[in-house]
Amino acid sequence: MTVYNFSAGPAVLPRPVLERAQSELLDYRGSGMSVMELSHRSSLFEEIIQDAEALLRELMAIPDNYRVLFLQGGASLQFSMVPLNLAKNKKALYINTGSWSKKAIQAAEAVATVEVIASSEDKHFTYIPEITVDNIDQTATYLHITTNNTIEGTAFQTIPDAGKVPIIADMSSNILANEYRVEDFGMIYAGAQKNIGPAGLTVVIIREDLLNEEAVFAPMLDYRLQADNGSLYNTPPTYSIYIAKLVFEWLKELGGVAAITAQDRQKAALLYQAIEASNLFSSPVDKNSRSLTNIPFITGDKELDRQFNEAAEAAGFKNLKGHRSVGGMRASLYNAFPIEGVQALVDFMKSFEAEVK
Ligand code: PLP
Repeated sequence: MTVYNFSAGPAVLPRPVLERAQSELLDYRGSGMSVMELSHRSSLFEEIIQDAEALLRELMAIPDNYRVLFLQGGASLQFSMVPLNLAKNKKALYINTGSWSKKAIQAAEAVATVEVIASSEDKHFTYIPEITVDNIDQTATYLHITTNNTIEGTAFQTIPDAGKVPIIADMSSNILANEYRVEDFGMIYAGAQKNIGPAGLTVVIIREDLLNEEAVFAPMLDYRLQADNGSLYNTPPTYSIYIAKLVFEWLKELGGVAAITAQDRQKAALLYQAIEASNLFSSPVDKNSRSLTNIPFITGDKELDRQFNEAAEAAGFKNLKGHRSVGGMRASLYNAFPIEGVQALVDFMKSFEAEVK
C-alpha cells in the first residue's frame, strides 16, 4: 500500500534527501564518521552550516543586512525570544489569526505591553482580518503576524503595510512555499519541521538593526550573542542543519521557491476544486483567506468525519485528522508532498462520497 503522509508537522521530507542522507549516514565524505558524530567545530561541519546559510540566502534572496541564525527551541521559543530581545517593557502589536498567534501573544504578554490590533477569533479564525497602516501605532517596536495558520488553514494573501514598524512573521508553515520579499519583514522565524527539515532546528532571519543592544538575561535567548557566534555559541542541532542543507539543495535544483510555489498552487487547486465540486465536503475557511499548505475540510457531521478519517487512515492516507481544536480533516501539502498523493486523496474522497450517498 502506498502511504501518503498529510501530517501538519513533523512533515514529509523529499525522498531524494532521505536517500542521500542514508547513503552518507555511516561515513560522511570519507571521514569515517557520521554527520551526527562530527564536532560542531570541525571544518566538515563548518562547511555544512555555511553551505546551509548560503543556500537559504540564495533561495530567499536574503539581503546582506539580515543575519541567519540556526537555533533550537522550536517556533514556540521564538514566541518569548522575540519580545525579550525587542520589546521588553515596550509596546508590541499582534494580529491574532489562530491558535499559534494566541500562544505568541500569551508569551509576549509576560514581557511586553501587547496590543492586539486585529483578530479573527469572532469567526473561529476562518478569515484573515484587514488592517491598514492607520491601525498601526508607529511608535510600537514591531507588528507580529502568523503568515500561515497551520491549524485553521488560513494565510495572509498580502503582507500588511505597517509603515515604519517592522513586521515579525512566524512563517513556520509556509516558509519557502511563497515568494516573500524578505525586505518586507524585520524578522522571520520558522520551526524547521515542515518545509525545512527535521524538528529540533529553528531558523531566524533578522535585520541587523533589530539585534538587541542590551544583553538578554539568558545568553541562549540573546539574538546578538547567537549572531556574533555564528549560531555556534553552544552545540547546535547539527544533524537537523545537515538535513536542512540537503533540503535547500533539493529545492534549488528543482528551480527554487518560484518553482515549488507553482507546484504548491497546483496541488492546492486540485484539492480545493474537489472540495468545491463535492456535495459532501466543504471548506470551513473564507475563500479569500485560504492557505496553500494546510487545507481543512469537513462534512458537517462529526460521525461522518470520523468514518472518513478511519477509512482514509486504513487506505494509507495518514495524519488527515483535523487538529483537535477544529475537528474534521486537514491535508497539509508542504513542499515535499507529491501531487500524486493529492490526486489519490481526491479520488478517495469521491468514492467515499458515492458510497455514503
Ligand atoms: N507556529 C506555527 C505557525 C506552527 O505551525 C507551529 C507548529 O506547528 C508552531 C508555531 C510551533 O512550533 P514548534 O513546535 O516548533 O514550537
